[in-house]
Amino acid sequence: LTPRLQPFTSTIFAEMTALATRTGAVNLGQGFPDTDGPASMLAEAQNAIASGINQYPPGPGRPELRQAIAEHRTRYGTHFDPDTEVLVTVGATEAIASALLGLAGPGDEVLLIEPYYDSYAACVALSGATRRVVPLAEDPETGRFAPDIDAMRAAITPNTRLILINTPHNPTGTVFTRSELTAIAELCVEHDLIAVTDEVYEDLIFDGLSHVPLGSLPGMAERTLTISSAGKMFNCTGWKIGWMCGPAELVAAAKAAKQFLTFVGGAPFQPAVAHALRHEGAWVADLRTQLQSKRDRLVEGLTEAGFGVRPSQGTYFVCADVRPLGFTDGFQLCRELPERIGVAAVPVQVFTDTPENWQHVVRFAFCKKDEVLDEAVARLHKLI
Ligand code: PMP
Ligand code: GLN
Repeated sequence: LTPRLQPFTSTIFAEMTALATRTGAVNLGQGFPDTDGPASMLAEAQNAIASGINQYPPGPGRPELRQAIAEHRTRYGTHFDPDTEVLVTVGATEAIASALLGLAGPGDEVLLIEPYYDSYAACVALSGATRRVVPLAEDPETGRFAPDIDAMRAAITPNTRLILINTPHNPTGTVFTRSELTAIAELCVEHDLIAVTDEVYEDLIFDGLSHVPLGSLPGMAERTLTISSAGKMFNCTGWKIGWMCGPAELVAAAKAAKQFLTFVGGAPFQPAVAHALRHEGAWVADLRTQLQSKRDRLVEGLTEAGFGVRPSQGTYFVCADVRPLGFTDGFQLCRELPERIGVAAVPVQVFTDTPENWQHVVRFAFCKKDEVLDEAVARLHKLI
């Protein structure tokens, strides 16, 4: 194995899901829903297969999907040319990889915020660039993990080329505010940085908060690649239909890498996702309402079970401090939990460069049926 990939031989999701399967544990580790997406979308995919949409789609993605993606982004007041400014990818994962491979290389620094989604550090390593990592700061009053603008400013050097921002944020569930994003945008403009934003949870936001795309802020349209995916929006994580939108020059750079990663993917799913983007907004609104009540259900259960629950404003996830239960190492706890009480979770320290600062935090997924959440909570009560 090449040295640059040696720190990345396995993923925590594969490890914890394998452990959950082996032990029959309730899996609140890997974030994937246990119900299907909108029926009309599933039918469209079946129709597409039956009608012969089974060969390579066009390199940038099928035109009706690129059109639907561009239309979908107009809700934020942003406008993209479907022919040059939209690229369909194999999940957001490939969009992130191609953006980094196409835009960063040896000598460049990429700024990440920790905890970070695991593929970011691996893809920076693949690109040959160097990552610099700034932590989210825990608000002492609310426990919310917030971006630390001063720390970000201090981490920027003349070699910083790109910053990767994820909101709504996995694993903390933080939704960045407009003023936090405005401060980040100002840093990008001042230091002439490219921004890559991971917005896969853009629709999964609670309590009446709203999603602000960094690329919609002043000075950002020309320097931002915005990434999203159908997986979380329409409960179809296994379809791996993702996309990016941005200025033609940045999209072309990412496309240069993408065409040699997978070339294309998911032909019959593309018209189905186009259909869902156009016609299933009400379904997504209902998903958001359901997820908010699942969040409440799990937060209440974890609190009663003795965890120090942190606020979750969006995504599939809530983070909890395990110290009130007498544990100090979340990784150790997550390795033991499936065997001990039959629940799987994910330690947040694996998403960081400073595990010692995050050892006490564990992530639970609530994108599950209510009875699954209730069973997990009942089992977690045995920890007291
Ligand atoms: N980014 C974040 C923050 C995620 O949580 C995930 C996983 N769902 C991805 C990217 C990958 O998305 P996809 O499944 O579309 O590749
Ligand atoms: N995004 C999902 C999570 O954070 C899982 C993705 C994966 O398994 N790679 O749990």
